Amino acid sequence: MFTLIDLPYAPDALAPAISAQTIGFHHGKHLQTYVNNLNALLPGSGLEGLSLEEIVVKAEGGLYNNAGQTLNHNMYFEQFREIPGQARNDEKGANGPTGALAAQIDKQWGSLDAFQAEFVAKGGGLFGSGWVWLSAQADGTLVITQEPNAGNPLKKGLRPLLTFDVWEHAYYLDYQNRRPDYLKALWPLVDWRVIEARYGK
Ligand code: MN
Repeated sequence: MFTLIDLPYAPDALAPAISAQTIGFHHGKHLQTYVNNLNALLPGSGLEGLSLEEIVVKAEGGLYNNAGQTLNHNMYFEQFREIPGQARNDEKGANGPTGALAAQIDKQWGSLDAFQAEFVAKGGGLFGSGWVWLSAQADGTLVITQEPNAGNPLKKGLRPLLTFDVWEHAYYLDYQNRRPDYLKALWPLVDWRVIEARYGK
């Protein structure tokens, strides 16, 4: 039995980049529905008792869609943190990447700016609903992928690190059709310590 995660911040903590109204619908309604569907589809699937990650790797069809959406949203919401005051205006992320992850980004993209530009371009360019991901390969090399619908890079043998949700429900209340504006506004909210922990695992 899976349960809805608690957010590690108040519903209004990410405003104005993500409003409390969007958080309320996105976490309280959309994610709750994916969790409910996952729990309803698990009995008899042969995957009962596995971790959410194991289910995502093994499931197909409706079970994959709901397990994937549950894991994707858990990773999305848990990668953000409240940034006080002026730091909200720091588009690089108030607590940017450090250590091995920062070195790998510099090695592959030359700068954090260049990485962020490619990530936003790939999120903006994804046709329809889905997710843009930063993942690691087994050798530590980083890759940005566009995953439609409930797609999670675990399915491709990658280790997912960072994701921006580009389903319209993630941004339409706050940005209407302006998906790139929404994507750019997320950077100051990213808690790079969370991303580094995922990379270091
Ligand atoms: Mn979503």
